[in-house]
Amino acid sequence: MPAPNPVREALTSRQFCYMVELVASRLTREAKLFHAASQLAQVPGLVAGSVTSYAGGALGHDPIRVGTAARARGLTPNIHLTCVGRDRLDIIHALEDLNALGIENVFAITGDYPKGSKESAETLYDLDSVQLVETINEMRQQKGYPFYISAAVSPFKYTEPDCAYQYLKLEKKIAAGADYAITQLGYDSRKFRELKRYLNERGLSTPVFGNVYILPLKAAEKFSKGEPPGCWASKELVEQIRAEVAASTDKGLVARLERAARMVAILRGLGYAGAYIGGDHQADRIRWIIKRSEALAPKWEELAAELEYAPKAGFYFFESPKRAPQKQSFWNRVADIIEPANTPRALRSILTAVLRWVDKQPAAAQALERAELAFKKPVFGCKACGNCVLGLMEYVCPMTCPKNLRNGPCGGTLNGQCEVIPEQACVWVKVYERAQAANRVDELKTYVPQRDRSLQGTSSYINYFLDRDSRPEHPQPLIQIVGVSPTTPVKATAHADEQLVKSK
Ligand code: SF4
Repeated sequence: MPAPNPVREALTSRQFCYMVELVASRLTREAKLFHAASQLAQVPGLVAGSVTSYAGGALGHDPIRVGTAARARGLTPNIHLTCVGRDRLDIIHALEDLNALGIENVFAITGDYPKGSKESAETLYDLDSVQLVETINEMRQQKGYPFYISAAVSPFKYTEPDCAYQYLKLEKKIAAGADYAITQLGYDSRKFRELKRYLNERGLSTPVFGNVYILPLKAAEKFSKGEPPGCWASKELVEQIRAEVAASTDKGLVARLERAARMVAILRGLGYAGAYIGGDHQADRIRWIIKRSEALAPKWEELAAELEYAPKAGFYFFESPKRAPQKQSFWNRVADIIEPANTPRALRSILTAVLRWVDKQPAAAQALERAELAFKKPVFGCKACGNCVLGLMEYVCPMTCPKNLRNGPCGGTLNGQCEVIPEQACVWVKVYERAQAANRVDELKTYVPQRDRSLQGTSSYINYFLDRDSRPEHPQPLIQIVGVSPTTPVKATAHADEQLVKSK
C-alpha cells in the first residue's frame, strides 16, 4: 500500500499548506540538508521539502538522493526535474527511478541555463517543460505511475508579451497534465491577485502555491539585477531592506521573517492553495512565519496594499491597456500562403505524391533539403531539424531560442530580453506580437510536441507531407508500452525515431 502523499491530500482537501525549498546546491553539505529535513518534518502543515536541481544554473547534489534521504527523515520530497543537460531517455529513466523509489511529487521545470556552458542548445535542452509535463502524464496514464505533477509559472512579468505568454504557457501545462502550480518568487500582491483572476476567469481551479522567498539584503541586491534568471526585486524593496538592516542588530532577520509572514497571510487571503517558502531551511523560523501569518490573516487586504514592489509603468494583464495589434507584415501573409498546413486539399494530394517520389530518390531528397535550408537558414535561422513548426510560431524558428523551447518562453526573461543572451530579445516576444497582429493569440495554446531527432538534416517538407514529423496533429508518443506489466521497465520510444532512419 503506497504511503499517503501529504501534498495530494492537502490540495485535494483544500487545506492551506506549506512547502519549503531545499536548495541542494554544492555549497551546502548534504548532512546539513538532511538535518534540516528532519527538523522541517516536525513543522505542522508543512507537506513537503522541494528539492532543487541545477539551481541558478549550477550543478548541485542529486535531488533524488537528497529527496530519498529527506523522506527517510519524515519529510515528503517534491523533486525538481529539469530539462537541462538530459535528453528524453535520461528523463524517462529518472522517472522510472522516482517511481521505483515510490516518490510521487515531481516539479517539472525547464531549468536555468548552465553557467558558462559551451554545449549547443540541441544537446542541453531536448524537451521543454510543457513536453516534460506531457511525458510524466503519459507515464502516469499508461503505466499507472502515481506521479503528482507541479509546474512553474511566473506572474512577475511586466511587459505584455512576457506576462501574457507565462499565463498561456501555464494553461498548456495544465492541459498537458499538471496537477498544481508553483509561482516564481516576487514581491507584488497585484501580480499574485492577477494570476488567480486569470485562472478563475478561465474556470481553471488548479491549486497554486505562492512563492515566499525570505529575502536578505545580499540576495535582494542580486535579484534587482535579474540574477538568478527569473528572480527580480525592485530598487524600492532593496532600499527598504537596506534600511531594515541598518536599523536592526540582527542584520534584518526579524524584518524579513515578518515580510514572509505577511506574504503568507496575503496568499491565504487571495485563495492560494499554499505557500512555497524559500531562502531559509531553519524549521523554527518556518514555524514562526506560519504562526505569525495566522495572526495576521484578518488584515491580509491591508497588507496586500503594502506589498506592491513593481517597476513603474509595469504591465498588468487586467488593468494595463493592451498594445494595439500591429499590421501583419507582407512576408508573414506570404508565409501564411505557402505554410504547408494551409495547403489546399487538392494540392495536398498532388504534393504528397510528388514528395513521396522525391523521397525515394536520395539525390533529389537531399537537393530539396539543401534548397529548403538555403532559403530558411538566412530568413528564419533554420537548423534543419526536419520537424518544421514555423507556421505554429508565427514564422519564428524555435531552434533560434537558446533553450530550443517549442511551447513558449522560459521564466528567465527580463523585460522581454533573453535569459541566455540578454542583449537579444526573447524569441517568444516576436511570436506573441505577430500572433497579436494576426489576431490569433489563442492559437499559441496549441501544444507542440518534441521534435523527432532522427529527422535532423532531412527535408521538413517531405516529412510534413509524408506525415513523418512530430507536430500537434501528429505527435509521436514518448512512452510506448511493450508487453505491459507493473515490473516491465518502459521501452522508451525515443529509440523509435532511430529505427525510423534505418527503415528508410
Ligand atoms: S529566447 Fe526566450 S525562451 Fe528562449 S532561452 Fe531566451 S528567454 Fe528563454
